[in-house]
Amino acid sequence: MSKTKYVYSFGGGKADGKADMKNLLGGKGANLAEMASLGIPVPAGFTLTTEVCTYYYDNNRKYPSTLAAEVDKAMAKVEKTMRTKFGDPKDPLLVSVRSGARSSMPGMMETVLNCGLCSATIPGLIKKTGNPRFVYDAYRRLIMMYSDVVMEKAAGIEPAEGQGIRQQLDRILEKVKEKGGYASDAEIPAEKLEKLCDRFKAKVKQVLGKDFPDDPKKQLWGGIGAVFSSWNGRRAVSYRRIEGIPDDWGTAVNVQAMVFGNMGDDSATGVAFTRNPATGENKFYGEWLVNAQGEDVVAGIRTPNPLNEDTKNEQNEHLPSLEVAMPEVYKELFAIRNQLEKRYTDMQDIEFTIQNGRLWMLQTRVGKRTGTAALNMAMDMLKEKLIDKPTAVLRVKPEQLDELLHPIVDPKAEAKADLIAKGLPAGPGGAAGQIVFSADAAVKWTRQGKTVLLVREETNPEDVEGMRAAVGILTGRGGMTSHAALVARGWGKCCIVGAGALDIDVVGKTIKVDGRTFKEGDVLTLNGTRGLVYVGQLDMIDATENPRFVDFMKLADRIRAMKVRTNAETPEDARTAIDFGAEGIGLFRTEHMFYGKGSEQPLFILRKMIMAGSESERRKILKELYPFVKRDMKETLEVMGSRPVTFRLLDPPLHEFVPQNETERKELAKALGVSVEELDRRADELHELNPMMGHRGVRLGITFPEISEMQFRAILESAAEIRKDGGKCFPEIMVPVTCAKEELDVQLASARRIHAEVCKKYGVKKVEHLYGTMIEIPRAALTAGEIAKTCEFFSFGTNDLTQMTFGFSRDDIGGFLPDYLDKKILAVDPFQVLDRDSVGELVKTGIDRGRATRPDLKVGICGEHGGEPNSVEFCHLVGMNYVSCSPFRVPIARLAAAQAQINHPRK
Ligand code: ADP
Ligand code: MG
Ligand code: MG
Repeated sequence: MSKTKYVYSFGGGKADGKADMKNLLGGKGANLAEMASLGIPVPAGFTLTTEVCTYYYDNNRKYPSTLAAEVDKAMAKVEKTMRTKFGDPKDPLLVSVRSGARSSMPGMMETVLNCGLCSATIPGLIKKTGNPRFVYDAYRRLIMMYSDVVMEKAAGIEPAEGQGIRQQLDRILEKVKEKGGYASDAEIPAEKLEKLCDRFKAKVKQVLGKDFPDDPKKQLWGGIGAVFSSWNGRRAVSYRRIEGIPDDWGTAVNVQAMVFGNMGDDSATGVAFTRNPATGENKFYGEWLVNAQGEDVVAGIRTPNPLNEDTKNEQNEHLPSLEVAMPEVYKELFAIRNQLEKRYTDMQDIEFTIQNGRLWMLQTRVGKRTGTAALNMAMDMLKEKLIDKPTAVLRVKPEQLDELLHPIVDPKAEAKADLIAKGLPAGPGGAAGQIVFSADAAVKWTRQGKTVLLVREETNPEDVEGMRAAVGILTGRGGMTSHAALVARGWGKCCIVGAGALDIDVVGKTIKVDGRTFKEGDVLTLNGTRGLVYVGQLDMIDATENPRFVDFMKLADRIRAMKVRTNAETPEDARTAIDFGAEGIGLFRTEHMFYGKGSEQPLFILRKMIMAGSESERRKILKELYPFVKRDMKETLEVMGSRPVTFRLLDPPLHEFVPQNETERKELAKALGVSVEELDRRADELHELNPMMGHRGVRLGITFPEISEMQFRAILESAAEIRKDGGKCFPEIMVPVTCAKEELDVQLASARRIHAEVCKKYGVKKVEHLYGTMIEIPRAALTAGEIAKTCEFFSFGTNDLTQMTFGFSRDDIGGFLPDYLDKKILAVDPFQVLDRDSVGELVKTGIDRGRATRPDLKVGICGEHGGEPNSVEFCHLVGMNYVSCSPFRVPIARLAAAQAQINHPRK
């Protein structure tokens, strides 16, 4: 039996792994291997595979028996390449222990730098480098990271807010800086750092009750164990839930020779994007810090320097760029940038370190980007022939379109607004909301229906859920590659970082600026595109369509197999939807004309109709209602032209239409010529205990056929008139809330009768239309074979279908859904993302049985799911003809449908 290989080496121009081995080596490990093979300077190292992680969790947190020997062997290789030895007192090799999941989880998991420093190796390293300041700086960082990651987090200790070991050590560091008057870490002299390390170790012992390990091997294995256990840490778990990353993927661990950006002024560390991640511009973009290590740039501790001219902004333009400070290194980095883009054919997010003037690459991965940048890069790279058309279409996530079509602050309002601060434009668009100062508050307030902006000094991975909940994020510190910026950009969320003028006090929950104070709950507006912070609530407008977007959508439209329709009830909505690319209306809710502007008159007539005492009275009132219904239908048909329009018969929640107040009831009684008491009695009769499953939909048409008849007539007469005038239109009649074929037969018979009458009236042989039903009750899906005998099309009403499949009331789900998500009972809200296992099975069954009866059965979806990318993909997979969604989601559905076709081609 061949043994499983658990450890993969890289370095010295060679590697065991390569870029496409992400599943096994994690993204970081696979790409380090790839870079090493490409001859790019990468410190040597090795990767413990994700299979070790899976094994570890499957075997009660034990490692495979062969692992230790493999690690020793791989370490020996690193030692050979780097010509130093791990634990050697004279010339010690130090390593980093880095996490690396399959798909990047920025900042979610743990990394420990400088492993291998201990009382035995410190003197040797000082002698070798002649730089005690550097050695003690590296050592104090090791103590901070290791005590936090390994001794506290991985040990499952959950300290009180602000009492984490890292924060406690940070406070000691801050005090030393304050006392000595040092502006930055880099100014603390060696002796002070040495003493600081002793104080750190004493504090660790005092707080965690354990000695800081003084043995390199112990540190190494402590680090490895901590990375594996960080996979199940709270932040990593919640990030996976938001991003939909399966729990069983596991993480890899990378052990890599340390290189040092903190060895003096010819050393540095930096991060860069091969193109601008905010705008997509084809310009190398990055930040760096001299004499610093690892996370310093991302942590937003100092304002980082610009990489080059193109990266300068108001915050950093006074600082020297790498291009100017170290031109040779910059040139080499620029060449690597080009090499990586060619190899990966996508924008890369890279980490590098310069040790005594020598460049080392530490990471490359596909970079997160805003929707705008994604669009621009896709179109540019297509033009550069770096990628083909389908690849370009796959490069923009459907959700990112949201952001392209999203509101921005109205420039007119902005011109007069009260500007309080300027920061870096880290996430695009505009957002206004009440300010809160903690992630918890952001989540809580949002659940209460409030709109909030999350304000922090800087964010860290513990804030992600709050960042998700908030409509916008504002930080006082940090650059364009800070945590807040990275996360916001990934989500396309409005975000401003580094608004340094703001004095943010998260404990006292205030922002102070220019003698003014803003408290929790006060309203601010952010312009994330320009980095401007305003007082109060400013108006928003829609971002205007840009020609690139139009071109991009054309590419997508040529590929997709499904049509995309919209849910619209008014001529105005229909027009908007056409602008967004809708190819028809999949759901016209007739009852909509009884809500909102201009609804008073039809609503009053509808109420009369509901309260009518007899059929003849009802028929009379329906005649009054008829012109209103027909007007809306006809105008909408006219706007849509030859595009199909599905009219759903009235499905009004009757109880909602019963007037509640005294005056209205009096008025209505008068109009009907009955006493108020009689009206009250009729209203009581209409009262239902469970209206959602009550007298609605087709049931109404069964008890009151005249209500359906009126609508059949309105639809068919509208169509007849339009065609007579030489126009085009295509109506589809849709019966809602069906559970049996027989209901549809009864309704169809009356539709036929009306059709004959209309033909006679207009002197035509027929008024072309389709007759079909909504499938929104499980029984209808299961008996679809029968139903298809009567129906020419199905439209899956997945809102109700989800409600009835889960037994979750749509209107009351807010009470328990958050718990279901928190406790991971459900991965997502099934009303947002179609549940393939249950609702999806019903849909699939319905389609298969329906088409077995009627092969050319037209099938679509008209629930909220029709505009949700994952659900759209499902609709494609089960062979639907179209999806229908709200006008603003139409572009998202178009793109999702195209991507579904690229990933799963169908004829
Ligand atoms: P993350 O996944 O959070 O980015 P990383 O493993 O990339 O974590 O490490 C955190 C920081 O430490 C990064 O800035 C990285 O470049 C730096 N780093 C990691 N390993 C080394 C190393 N061997 N030498 C120098 N810096 C390193
Ligand atoms: Mg990290
Ligand atoms: Mg990294």
